[in-house]
Parts: sequence; structure tokens; C-alpha cells
Amino acid sequence: MRPITFLKPVVAGFALMLAASSFVHAKDPIPVVSTFSILGDLVKQVGGNHIALTTLVGHDGDAHVYKPTPADARAVSAAKVLFVNGLEFEGWIDRLVDASDFRGSRIVATEGIAAIPFEEADEHGNDSHKDDDHAKHKDDDHDKHKSEGGHEFEWAGVFELSPGTYKWSFAKVDGKYADPGMKMVILKSDGIETAEEKAEGLLKSEDLVSRDHNDVLVAQDKAYALNFDATKDMTVFSVNIDKAGKYAFFTGHMPFEFEANEHFFKNVTGKDVEPVEQEPEAGHHHHHGAFDPHAWQSAENVVTYITNIAAALVKADPANTTAYIKNRDAYVAKLRALDADIMARMNALPENKRTVVTSHDAFGYFAKRYGLKFEAPQGMSTESEASAKDVATLINQIRKEKISAVFVETITDNRLMEQISRETGAKIGGTLYSDALSGPKGPASTYLDMMRHNALAISKSLGS
Ligand SMILES: [Zn+2]
Repeated sequence: MRPITFLKPVVAGFALMLAASSFVHAKDPIPVVSTFSILGDLVKQVGGNHIALTTLVGHDGDAHVYKPTPADARAVSAAKVLFVNGLEFEGWIDRLVDASDFRGSRIVATEGIAAIPFEEADEHGNDSHKDDDHAKHKDDDHDKHKSEGGHEFEWAGVFELSPGTYKWSFAKVDGKYADPGMKMVILKSDGIETAEEKAEGLLKSEDLVSRDHNDVLVAQDKAYALNFDATKDMTVFSVNIDKAGKYAFFTGHMPFEFEANEHFFKNVTGKDVEPVEQEPEAGHHHHHGAFDPHAWQSAENVVTYITNIAAALVKADPANTTAYIKNRDAYVAKLRALDADIMARMNALPENKRTVVTSHDAFGYFAKRYGLKFEAPQGMSTESEASAKDVATLINQIRKEKISAVFVETITDNRLMEQISRETGAKIGGTLYSDALSGPKGPASTYLDMMRHNALAISKSLGS
């Protein structure tokens, strides 16, 4: 019932608004979905009143670590076009599309841009500790991960556990389990890598231990076949741990697909237990992607986004072609002006004042386009802690290069930047918007405002 009632009122509301306006359309606006706030603004600029837009990750949200809701699946089901950033920015999108009844077209907004490989992005222009062997090794690593499509498991996680009983639960989402059952292996192991080969073998074997609701699981050299109880909204297994230490869990499907209201793994007091390591990483930056996904940080790239968006809307709704093309051209003109403006501002900075220190590395495209250097103690990941050595190196660099300001971001934990600011005397130069717009009253409620705000904050702080 609910999937039907969900979208209809939205569409009806739009139709009413349009009928009330002086310009009456023959057709209802087409339902489209965008994945996150920045992309949503770009889609809106081209689509105008001809689209009914749902944006999944709203302002100030972090699209890397987002967990889709049943409402998202309904919106995607109803959409004629689904706009994604691509470059593996939205690690959760395939699962969401699978979970929905989507029959529209999926458009990758970054299609055709010159993507920055992670190797290049990882360097931060800091070549001192890089050598060819290191780079080569990392390339091999990437290739290895990319070819891992044929895994026996979809997810692996390592938990640091003390002895006791834990609960692993699988919930129905929208009235049904994502799968009727799944395989699982639990091994006492320090890491995923160490246990991976053994787990693959066990999962492949025919010799499975079958378990039902309320049954007990232990770490052992056999794979479980977990059966979900269709008569219950949730199937729960107890996990008994008798020795303290790290345990690696390998699961046939993504455990997150079975989360309705609560997390899948809890201790005896009902508190969530988070993995110390997992694969694929739920971390801020999904290292298995080969490219830096933050392509929108260059206004030049966004011309490509807009071109792709317009082409997709024209195809989905040819009746409004004229409007989409007009909106596209008007917005591209604004992007070109913005691009030139940022370029002029950055060029005006003295050569030795072009290093921006921020908490995580989301500005690779900005750096490349506008000739700046960005340093981020947390590198590509906001999940992993910055190492003490990296922080010390950065502090030395800030002192040596007399960097006068560091920046905080809206979607990251900024305590580290505050500490670096205290220790170096570099002031907090302002807030940069990396992956999400601000709310409507904030300084970055549209893409154009966000870019202007960031450029202004950087030029003010570094130029002073
Ligand atoms: Zn990011």
C-alpha cells in the first residue's frame, strides 16, 4: 500500500502548483531522483518546474556513509530518471536500486570528465615519501580488489569482542527479508586478509551448519546456513564468544540490507558493536574506487554534469526540450563566470600562500583546476584516525611554510583541526563545504554559492 500512497500526493501537489501558476503545462512534472544535495541543485537548475525532484541525502548529509531508507526505495521505484555522481561516490546505490522496482534510466553525471586517479589524489603533491615501487604496489592492490567480483562473501567485518553473548539480527524491510537466508563464517582472526582464504573455502563447501531463529553461533571452521523466519519481522541469532579478541565475520549478503530500525550486531546490553575493520569499507572514502569522486569541486567539470543532466531530461521528457536546453545554457554561462572568478581569485594569491589545510581530502579537483595544494591529515578517510606521525609532519610543515590558516568542514569531525590550529598558531580560516550544501539559510545553499563561499574563505584567509 505505502509505495503507492507515497509519491502520488507529491506529484499531485506539483500539478496543483503548476495549474495555479500562469503557465499551464499539458503534463505533470516527471519524477526524478538525485542522490545528494549538490547534484540535486544541479538537476533542479536544469529541470526547473518540469521535474518533481527527490534528493536522497539532504543538506549537510554525508553521502559516502549514507544508509538508504524504505522511503528512498519508493522514490527510486517511481523515478523516471535517477541521477548519480558515479566514480563510486554512492557506495550504497546498487543495493538501493536492487531493493527498488526502478525501471527508469540511471544517469552518471560525471560521465565524460577527466577523473583524477586515487594514486594522484593520494599524493597531495607530497612526493617526498613516494617512490615508484610504492605506487606500483598500490596499483596492484587496486587491481586485485577490482577483480574480486567473484567473492563467496559480499561483506566482511572484524569485531573486537570480549567474552559473552551477542545478538546478530536480520530484519524484514518493507515486509520482507532481502533474501530468505544467508551464509556466514565466524573465525577468530586479527584481520579480514588473514582469514579471507579460509573463509572463502568454508563458504564454498557443501558442509554447512544450518541455524534457525534464536540458535547459537560460535567461531568455528565451518560455514553457517542461516535461515530467516518468514513468520517473524526479525530473525535473531546469538553469537557466543568465549575468548577475548578479534573475530572476523564473513557474510553472503550485505548485513545492512536487513536493517529496518536498528543495527544488526549488538552486545548483551543492546548496545551497537561496530567493526574495527570492514570490507567493502563503509568509510568516508571508498578506497576500492579507482578515482576521486569529488569532481564537482571544479566548476569546469560541472559543465559536463549539466550537459549530461540536460541530455537525460530531454530524452526522458522530449516535450520540454526547449526549456531544458534554455536552462542548461543559462546555467553553463553562470558556471563559466564562476570558474573565471575562482581562477582570478586563486591566481591573485602569492605563490607561497597556496596551501590549504583541511581535515579530509575532498578538494583534489579544486586543487588541480585552480592551482592550489591541499593537505589533509586524515587523507582520503574520515573514518580512519589520522596517525600521530602524519599529524606531526603536517604541524611541522605548517610551521615551516608559515601557513596562516587551516579550515574545518561541515561533514567531518573538526577536533583534530582545532588541535592543529592550537599547536601551530594557524587560525581557523573558515568552513569549507565539500560534499554537501548547507541548509537554505546557510552560506552554501546552492552549488554556485557553495563554490563562491569556499573560494572566498580560502582567498581571504590565505591572502591576508
Ligand atoms: Zn567526500
